[in-house]
Amino acid sequence: MYTPKVGDRVDDLDTPSMIVDLDLMEANIQKLMGKLLPTGLNIRPHLKTTKSAILANKLVAAGAKGGCVAKISEAEAIAAAGFDDLLITCEIIGPAKVKRLVELYRKHRKIRIVIDSETGASAINNALVASGIEEPISVLIDLDVGLHRTGVAPGEPALALAHHIAGLKQLKLIGVQGYEGHLQHLHDREDRRTQCLQSMEILTGTAESLRQAGFGIEVVTTGGTGTAEFCATVPGVTELQPGSFIFMDTDYRNAVGTFYSNSFTILSTVVSKQGPRAVTIDAGLKSLTTDSGLAECKDPRYAYGVLGDEHGSLTWDEGTPSLAVGDRVQMIPSHIDPTVNLHDFYYAYRAGVVEEIWPVDSRGKVQ
Ligand code: PLP
Ligand code: MN
Repeated sequence: MYTPKVGDRVDDLDTPSMIVDLDLMEANIQKLMGKLLPTGLNIRPHLKTTKSAILANKLVAAGAKGGCVAKISEAEAIAAAGFDDLLITCEIIGPAKVKRLVELYRKHRKIRIVIDSETGASAINNALVASGIEEPISVLIDLDVGLHRTGVAPGEPALALAHHIAGLKQLKLIGVQGYEGHLQHLHDREDRRTQCLQSMEILTGTAESLRQAGFGIEVVTTGGTGTAEFCATVPGVTELQPGSFIFMDTDYRNAVGTFYSNSFTILSTVVSKQGPRAVTIDAGLKSLTTDSGLAECKDPRYAYGVLGDEHGSLTWDEGTPSLAVGDRVQMIPSHIDPTVNLHDFYYAYRAGVVEEIWPVDSRGKVQ
């Protein structure tokens, strides 16, 4: 079997492969930290993008404090791989998940969770009481700041949920999460900023009214790649959760511009010639997701099309140099998080040589 090793040339890797330009990735991390660390806020990057404990540790080395994961199964995988300072940003609902949470929390006491319903709160509390674990788990109220995906409504409903949680002895209310996911990709920067500040007013206003009601709200967590810099200007926000900035994708590049670069591509091989200005490459639906539009060839002279699960086309205008069977191209994904989820390993390179290989620890962990 062919197993790529550190020291191999990128030119010798099999395809399709996820490859990461280390210089560009490190620059993205430094750009984010340079912008956000001086604000004094905690940066808790969302690991739904990288799905990697190694990368979580690199982010911490650069100044981050902890990480976020979306799901309980992601938390299990990332914690098992060596990184357990995690906020799980999706609600944990149903007996199977609650059981998994208790077992995870038994081993990893830094795990934090979000809650948006009394039903959810009571189920987790009951399971923790039954487990005999004495230390209460840290809980954030998930607040709807306009995305209308999850989150309790601001005002009275949030206050009622806080009172309910306060009555449950294995839950310790430490803060509020409000994620403005509907704003991340707004193309107009001023529009994105204005709407983000409105969402932040809901978030910090609710945090303040919970404090006035006597609740100890220390953490106010929010933000993504498209909004973190705006969230960071709002007094009362304490923590930021950007994820995609580390690799970027065409969707984010089109929305927020090129402050962060595309450090991640899918390396692909031309496997067939299909006419004078058309070839077929070995990257199709199983290598690159299409929910946010089609991937783009890093060399913009070649236009990509999907030709099924395993294949894609590249076509070009007259006058552009032809691609030939065996040539290799790099494809920039349109949506980074689900694209990473299609692959097992990253091959991170500098000057054409593989310097590090990282497993995608939480690949496929959607539960
Ligand atoms: N926080 C939450 C709750 C999210 O769902 C996401 C992404 O979906 C993020 C943060 C990170 O956002 P991004 O990858 O857009 O930076
Ligand atoms: Mn995403």
